[in-house]
Amino acid sequence: MPRTSSRSAGVPQQLGFDGMPERLFVCTPSKLGSFADCPRRYRYSYVDRPSPSKGPPWAHNSLGASVHTALKNWYAVPAARRAAASLPTLLKTTWVREGYRDVDLERVAYRKALGWLDTYVAGLDPQEEPLGVERVVATKTSVLAFNGRADRIDGRDGEAVIVDYKTGRTGLDADDARGSQALALYAYAAQRVFRRPCHKVELHHLPTGTVAAHEHTEESLARQVTRAEETARDIMAAEKAVAAGADPDDEFPTNPGSLCSWCDFRKSCPAGKEMAAKEPWAAVEHLERA
Ligand code: SF4
Repeated sequence: MPRTSSRSAGVPQQLGFDGMPERLFVCTPSKLGSFADCPRRYRYSYVDRPSPSKGPPWAHNSLGASVHTALKNWYAVPAARRAAASLPTLLKTTWVREGYRDVDLERVAYRKALGWLDTYVAGLDPQEEPLGVERVVATKTSVLAFNGRADRIDGRDGEAVIVDYKTGRTGLDADDARGSQALALYAYAAQRVFRRPCHKVELHHLPTGTVAAHEHTEESLARQVTRAEETARDIMAAEKAVAAGADPDDEFPTNPGSLCSWCDFRKSCPAGKEMAAKEPWAAVEHLERA
């Protein structure tokens, strides 16, 4: 299991042992999530990268990036030109080809993605201008300097709403939206950036056309921020221990599990080598059968 905040319990939050303020931990949601999922993966990603440092280009990442960029560009054109007829051009322009088994699977994925986008934009008001599209929001606490890029931030009834696009195989429910630390941190930061309330977070799953939503309270946002701060303290404690001579393998332990088969560092990781590798296109092959 990933380490929790046990090592940071009782550690002063703002002052170092020499009485000087501790540096803030600069982070994104994926940096925090990486450590929470597997401390060793965090180390390989952010502390000392092994060689080779990259896994294969994953087809599901290519598909997700293509759809995300097409939706970003949808909002980049003037409202009067936001029409379904523009989608093939938008998607072709942004299409990422890497990772597919062959051109047949790539074509299937392209057609599916176009269908998802077609259905999705039919439910959008082309005249509606979001508060932000792929907008970076940033804020600080006594522990964190957080920044992250939200897919979309809507303005609805005087509030900001965080929208995150999803293109994975499985649908998502309200528990996924409620439990997402990334969405909560975006909401916490958006409140400060836009100076308006932001409690609602939404996961828009394009393959099923469903929206999983959760309405946070100030308390639930604060709880997620506290959890993020605990993770940040754990990371800083591990980095300090290594700097003081501790074994990096002990401070950043492996957390073997289903993620290993998809991990970019599987070949460099003693635990990952034991796990079966996935083909780069494994997560999109089901599209041929759908
Ligand atoms: S292969 Fe598994 S245990 Fe190793 S770094 Fe990746 S996720 Fe962690």
